[in-house]
Amino acid sequence: YTASLRVLDTAVPPPHRVPRVDRPWASGDPFANAIDTDPAVREHREAVTRLLGRAASSTLGDDTLAEHTVTDRAVLDRLLDDARAAGAAWGARPAAERAAVLQRAGDALAAAREELIEVMVSEAAKTVDQADPEVSEAVDFARYYAHHAEELEQVDGARFVPAALTLVTPPWNFPVAIPAGGVLAALAAGSAVVLKPAGPASRCGAVLAEVLWRAGVPRDVLNLVQVDEQDLGGALVADPRIDRVILTGAWETARLFRDFRADLPVLAETSGKNAMVVTPSADLDLAVKDLVQSAFGHAGQKCSAASLAILVGSVATSKRFLGQLVDAVSSLEVGMPWDPTTRMGPLIEPADGKLLEGLTTLGEGERWLLRPKRLDEEGRLWTPGVRSGVRRGSAYHLTEYFGPVLGLMTVDTLDEAIAVQNEVSFGLTAGLQSLEPEEIGAWADRVDAGNLYVNRGTTGAIVGRQPFGGWKRSSVGPGSKAGGPNYLMGLGSWQRADATE
Ligand code: GLU
Repeated sequence: YTASLRVLDTAVPPPHRVPRVDRPWASGDPFANAIDTDPAVREHREAVTRLLGRAASSTLGDDTLAEHTVTDRAVLDRLLDDARAAGAAWGARPAAERAAVLQRAGDALAAAREELIEVMVSEAAKTVDQADPEVSEAVDFARYYAHHAEELEQVDGARFVPAALTLVTPPWNFPVAIPAGGVLAALAAGSAVVLKPAGPASRCGAVLAEVLWRAGVPRDVLNLVQVDEQDLGGALVADPRIDRVILTGAWETARLFRDFRADLPVLAETSGKNAMVVTPSADLDLAVKDLVQSAFGHAGQKCSAASLAILVGSVATSKRFLGQLVDAVSSLEVGMPWDPTTRMGPLIEPADGKLLEGLTTLGEGERWLLRPKRLDEEGRLWTPGVRSGVRRGSAYHLTEYFGPVLGLMTVDTLDEAIAVQNEVSFGLTAGLQSLEPEEIGAWADRVDAGNLYVNRGTTGAIVGRQPFGGWKRSSVGPGSKAGGPNYLMGLGSWQRADATE
């Protein structure tokens, strides 16, 4: 069998709708013809092309950022006092009023799609196909939390008292969706926010804040603060005026936050080392597509990425499966994020430390099916790697590398695959490819991870449908999931309705 499966092979994803055209494509490839003939599709392509041109030289957000850079402790001090006071007033407003602001925020985010994509592409090295769904996720967060804000007021016999001030410290890999999720949840719960964007994505944070202010979120309720992490970062986290921290980042960072202040309530989604199991009953074409997207989307720089495929029994020796996998991975064009032919962009920073090791060093018994090649001087552009022969308990099995490398491990049974998945200290996402209901049931009952995905990739959780959050070392705090029904409750405390303050 020699046919190859080329995944992600359209330069620009068309809008998700079937074009209404007069079927000029009745013969030939319907989709290709529709792209040429439907004005809406053409318009979409042209818009994306314009956007890509702009993104290459964008300086969006620079001014806002400069305006909100805090280097002076006294300035930070005043800001925290003011923000707390604003939070108290915001929390005292009826939930319906806050929900209305959030609905407007959702509309504003949707309207700012181009602007947000532009800054994600130019600053955070996201390709358009990765940046675009982030905007949708941010919009979803706004609408979802608006909907749930009012529920907090409706619990009998108890009163929800929101945190006055929540610090939101997002990562650089989802520089719009994750900060938006944290900020909007806190706002919905009735808390003021200090948003401290990740250093490598600070302009993305600035543009996001601008959009939310424009939508009517008061400036003293949403505070954009850019501090040097070495300098004022610790002071910010340790400050007792901060009631809650929403953190997405490394597990070690959550630990560090706790060291800064032991009694600080942290809601953190942390690291992951996620695997996808493929059993002989799987639709192997689907498995290849889902694996490639889960391992190499945003060059593997996602906590949710699947960097290990656990192949059960005959899958491991299936020439067809392995051939398609290698072919699909090697077809991913690596390049600059604003180049429309790019399917995998650069790393946010030159590979070093653990990641460099993951891209260059094999463990015992492993061999490269595709050896990653460095394409630039700096070490940010790598071709994707696939290694086989990963052993149970090895460094590759247990370590999160956060880059474009996928390992293959062979096991005899599904039981063994589950054990391998559960041996990792993290538990964020887990995937299974199987068409056997019994296998699916057994697997779902026994895998220790926050988000379980069957016959689907492990990335791209959808707000409301797949609330996102981990178990074990993938989470710190109450364990409520972002985009899920309990999340807002973690952003305040409950008092008996008759209690006085
Ligand atoms: N929510 C993202 C997803 O489902 C992952 C977030 C992360 O990498 O931290 O893919």
